[in-house]
Amino acid sequence: MKSYLSHIECTLCGEIQNANHVHRLCPECGGVLYPRYDLKAAAKELDRKVFKDRHPSMWRYFELLPIIDPQNIVTLGEGFTPIFEISKVAKTLSCEKLFVKDESLNPTASFKARGLSAAVSKALEFGISKLTIPSAGNAAGAMTAYAAKAGIESYVFMPKDAPEANQKEVFISGAKLELIDGLISDAGKLSAQLANELDLFDVSTLKEPYRVEGKKTMGYEIAEQFDWSLPDAIIYPTGGGTGIVGMWKAFEEMESMGWIDKKRPKMFSVQSEGCAPIVKAFNDGKKHADPWENASTIAAGIRVPVAVADYLILQAVRESGGKALVVSDESMLSWMKSVASLEGMFFCPEGAATLAALKELLDDGFLSGSERILILNTGSGLKYLELVGMPEISKASN
Ligand SMILES: *Cc1c(COP(=O)(O)O)cnc(C)c1O
Ligand SMILES: [Zn+2]
Repeated sequence: MKSYLSHIECTLCGEIQNANHVHRLCPECGGVLYPRYDLKAAAKELDRKVFKDRHPSMWRYFELLPIIDPQNIVTLGEGFTPIFEISKVAKTLSCEKLFVKDESLNPTASFKARGLSAAVSKALEFGISKLTIPSAGNAAGAMTAYAAKAGIESYVFMPKDAPEANQKEVFISGAKLELIDGLISDAGKLSAQLANELDLFDVSTLKEPYRVEGKKTMGYEIAEQFDWSLPDAIIYPTGGGTGIVGMWKAFEEMESMGWIDKKRPKMFSVQSEGCAPIVKAFNDGKKHADPWENASTIAAGIRVPVAVADYLILQAVRESGGKALVVSDESMLSWMKSVASLEGMFFCPEGAATLAALKELLDDGFLSGSERILILNTGSGLKYLELVGMPEISKASN
């Protein structure tokens, strides 16, 4: 097996970089860098049918991932998560074809495993021995797990009110954990500072080119699992946006290889009322988002006041004909309860947010009940036990 990785390209100014060198943001303009592949050769030599017989992890798409030597793959079994139809929830919403991709079944119980498996593998390939990460929670748990497996030293900066499960998974892995009095954006500054001082590689999302490659595998899987015919709509809880831009990138790559047609799902970016920079920029018709002041939400994974890839998220949502929308924390708690009681799935609040958004989209007529709709449950509710037993959850009903 060989990777078709060819070069690194800036998504903002188009400048090209050598894929064999270590990069973070574009040295010319500070834009987000994407790995690019020789898709012409891949289209000729690679048949999408080959994946069927491969092992069920995201590494089944090795040719379209940025690792050169398969020996460098650091894996805990991430990806190829199931897609379920959730017809009882669908019935309460009066829609016909509702599916969930259940990312809670990833190692470390969230889809952050995908991005960090890719980034830590690439770090290993580059011979990097120390990593640092600012995280709202789940990214830290994933990074430290993969770093431990790879034998790479790791440092974490996380808000002190991040979910307890995230703090503990970092602690148990032996990583150096610093809890800070602030948000992920403040953690980002400290992480960058320490990276400079101690020569650590900072794996902040989209400030290095590889996490997005791990997350884009969701896009490949969705295509393969839906037999190469994408759903009509995808609803995604958005923090840094790595997942949504990753899926969008996967769709482009697959179209250029002739694996899927031109038709794209409408992409919906969901944020919380208490932290909605992307929604605000979407509604204001802006290309970039302003930092969100005093960000606050129970959905730790989307408590992200600043996203470097804001322009890529907004572009994907706009080009797809979707939209960005907010939901309340109460509605997330209420949907966590409904999904658990109707479908037996313990969603994270971010996953539940997609259902609250879907209800609004159906009520407003933005989506019709006959469309094929896919939501992402990005992590497990078991990582947010603090939320269960809050008075709101027992009061909540819908
Ligand atoms: C990080 C995270 C998100 C947001 O993901 P992005 O790709 O950064 O937008 C959503 N849900 C959960 C559970 C997360 O941990
Ligand atoms: Zn650039």
